[in-house]
Amino acid sequence: LGLVKYFRYIIIGGGVAAGYAAREFDRQGLKPGELAIISKEAVAPYERPALSKGYLNPKGAARLPEFHVCVGSGGERLLPGWYKEKGIQLFLSTEIVKVNLGSRTLISAAGETFKYQTLIIATGSTVIRLTDFKIEGADAKNIFYLRELEDADELAESMKAKKNGKAVIVGGGYIGLEVGAAMRINNFDVSMIYPEPWCMPRLFTPAIAAFYESYYANKGIKIIKGTVAVGFNANPNGEVTGVKLNNGRVLEADIVVVGVGARSLTTLFKGQVEEEKGGIKTDKFFKTSMPGVYAVGDVAAFPIKLYNEVRRVEHVDHARKSAEQAVKAIKASETGKEIEEYDYLPYFYSRSFNLSWQFYGDNVGDTVLFGDNNPSSPKPKFGSFWIKDGKVVGAFLEGGTPEENKAMAKIARLQPRVENVDQLKKEGLAFASKI
Ligand code: FAD
Repeated sequence: LGLVKYFRYIIIGGGVAAGYAAREFDRQGLKPGELAIISKEAVAPYERPALSKGYLNPKGAARLPEFHVCVGSGGERLLPGWYKEKGIQLFLSTEIVKVNLGSRTLISAAGETFKYQTLIIATGSTVIRLTDFKIEGADAKNIFYLRELEDADELAESMKAKKNGKAVIVGGGYIGLEVGAAMRINNFDVSMIYPEPWCMPRLFTPAIAAFYESYYANKGIKIIKGTVAVGFNANPNGEVTGVKLNNGRVLEADIVVVGVGARSLTTLFKGQVEEEKGGIKTDKFFKTSMPGVYAVGDVAAFPIKLYNEVRRVEHVDHARKSAEQAVKAIKASETGKEIEEYDYLPYFYSRSFNLSWQFYGDNVGDTVLFGDNNPSSPKPKFGSFWIKDGKVVGAFLEGGTPEENKAMAKIARLQPRVENVDQLKKEGLAFASKI
């Protein structure tokens, strides 16, 4: 076996899920040398959401080791020394380029061979690039994407070089909204463009979106909706200078940040495990169709018990919880014990400027807006309920306290019946708080 590195457990990917899995292995009892984490990134697992938030602050920006896992959920920070102390091997800057699940073998770009007894796939997602669509000039310098620490470092570097310059944000999802705000706070002249009629269209209702769009406009951010970038201009150094829109307009730009979506990294496993909904299919214990192989986080397509449906969830709370569930399941299977099925309530949040929202549940059915959604209010607080088949199934709240957010989570979980929609609108948060 000479050059083969063998581990009882290997996690491929060193992101959020990997970090929380490592902590759970430790809790469940792990012997030194049993676990390895193999990551393309150069650093130990960290809380990825920081990259589009605190990492871009003009003053006191968050930097590692501050936001290593598991601080994002109020836990202890796992510094690189923690892994060492526990005898967990971190193979960093190591990309796996070939996988043979049949022979339980992984091969790295440098040609190392790894073997395992149990594998956890935690490769997460990768960004969709404008070069994927062959958009003219999309490979110019200072056009950025944001997924990994390295991307955030490059953006931060360029923000220094192009101080007080012009930024164009392509995409109206949460990455676009968070980075747009961060660029504005850094005194950039910010424009945002997206093709949809309102921002965050997959979650926001028009009424919710209207609040954020007005709030952003009040901050001096120019939002151009219903447009896409069809090309980029560059100077002789190859640096981007302008964004060409499909309506013929050209926006000047020193920096462009693109947030147009992500796709899960499953290519290595193609044809070797069952897939569904663009991810790797698992059961309620995150077991894949291949014995001894689990998949967690962004890549997992798993059954959501509450909705009796297989879904993929690309949010940090699920990355953490699915990792813990998989490790519990692995340990239980070794001792013949049983654990409870995963029973996940979808939860997603975002923060920008002084705003902070949380969403729980499912955004289907009719909606009811409540509260103070005036973007000029000193402390706006408003929300929305989604009602399906006469029951509240989804709950959104901007500006809530921890207790209020908890009440919203509870309502999305318990799905109380709504007798009177007007009453619900009037009561708003109070309806959730009394459940
Ligand atoms: P990741 O954390 O992406 O980790 C995957 C890891 O696998 C990476 O380290 C990658 O380098 C590595 N990898 C991939 N392929 C290989 C390979 N072949 N060999 C070796 N290593 C490999 N969610 C929220 O709920 N709220 C937020 O506010 C929020 N903000 C976000 C902000 C940003 C900028 C980003 C990018 C995401 C944000 N998310 C947010 C989403 C959240 O971060 C992800 O859902 C979460 O990180 C998924 O965890 P994961 O472990 O599945 O994947």
